[in-house]
Amino acid sequence: MTQKKRILVTGGAGFLGSHLCERLLTLGCHVFCLDSFQTGRLENIAHLMGQDGFRFLKHDIVEPYDLRIHEIYNLACPASPVHYQADPIHTLKTSVYGSVNLLDLAARHRARILQASTSEVYGDPLQHPQPETYWGNVNPDGIRACYDEGKRCAETLFFDYRRRYGVDIKIARIFNTYGPRMDLDDGRVVSNFIVQALEHLPMTVYGDGRQTRSFCFVKDMIGGLIALMNSPADLTGPVNLGNPQEVTMLQLAQRILLLTNSRSHLEFRPLPQDDPIRRQPDITRARTTLGWRPRTNLNTGLRATIAYFRRLLEESTVIAQEPAALVDPSVRLVGRIIPLAEERRAATAREAAPKLPQSLA
Ligand code: NAD
Ligand code: UDP
Repeated sequence: MTQKKRILVTGGAGFLGSHLCERLLTLGCHVFCLDSFQTGRLENIAHLMGQDGFRFLKHDIVEPYDLRIHEIYNLACPASPVHYQADPIHTLKTSVYGSVNLLDLAARHRARILQASTSEVYGDPLQHPQPETYWGNVNPDGIRACYDEGKRCAETLFFDYRRRYGVDIKIARIFNTYGPRMDLDDGRVVSNFIVQALEHLPMTVYGDGRQTRSFCFVKDMIGGLIALMNSPADLTGPVNLGNPQEVTMLQLAQRILLLTNSRSHLEFRPLPQDDPIRRQPDITRARTTLGWRPRTNLNTGLRATIAYFRRLLEESTVIAQEPAALVDPSVRLVGRIIPLAEERRAATAREAAPKLPQSLA
């Protein structure tokens, strides 16, 4: 009998990680989902807990960990600016110490390891669209640097472990991705706008709203990550993964207003420091080497995401059930209480403002 592939997904209880775990299970893999619950949630993986071949491990990748494994997807790291700036030093440690720990693990078990890098390595790009050959324009001292520089350093570590120890590495540079299972309080633009629109609250546009992003639906992104992991060993990347359909934040807001039939109006707030003005992936490398390209257009993806948030907002309480035997004993499960719609409206209004330095406020 052939042995099932043993795959470690760090950050597996997060937005992307939970979708990845789900897809790998359907492919017949044995999935070890590791997460510290810093931004991830048990609800994201509760439906996987009872499944054959799924194990949850509560752990922070800043600390070493050992497990006999064939492949590692390293997704552990908060991705929303609000969350990664909340504890910038821990964010850096996650990318740097975390990568060292996982690369050591990969070297020890001769495992293949994929790093979830980011378009943020390009910073506020001076080249448009961004190909992998562009080295970027990052402010090393700014409030986004804990994330951007952490991810850049992680890429360096991956390549040095390959050069020095022959570790089998893959680097995916992920561009803005959205979809069901984003957290209500995630703070990123798609979830903010949808929740605000559904609640008929002001939609918070930062700056003049003319800055652009290119949004990829989660289903497409997961396909790209798996395709890269299963590509020939000499394809290390970096490989851009994203949807080149570029929109301004104003266009995004208008689209969401239309799709939700909302009475919200736009409210302009100061642009956070170092917020990139334009971002669009050049995905030629992914297309030609992986045969991958996104299939979901923005309207289709937004409709699915809106339906998800609508359901979430309608539920007053979500209590996930824990099949105790399958969970690491160190995991303490508490049901997450989502406040009633009225309370949420007040909370969202309070939380909507970006955390800005005094000089910009
Ligand atoms: P997310 O915040 O939903 O998920 C991150 C997960 O990592 C969470 O479950 C969190 O609890 C866990 N985590 C954070 N620090 C940890 C630590 N030190 N140890 C163990 N677990 C830890 O974010 P996401 O959108 O799912 O992003 C997943 C990965 O993809 C991240 O590495 C992110 O940098 C990268 N990425 C995402 C996007 C995007 O648009 N979603 C874009 C570029 C890169
Ligand atoms: N943004 C916005 N309103 C919000 C949240 C974000 O206008 O409520 C803007 C933000 O300033 C940025 C873009 O939307 O220009 C994307 O922000 P996000 O935090 O989603 O991702 P990132 O900046 O990391 O690409």
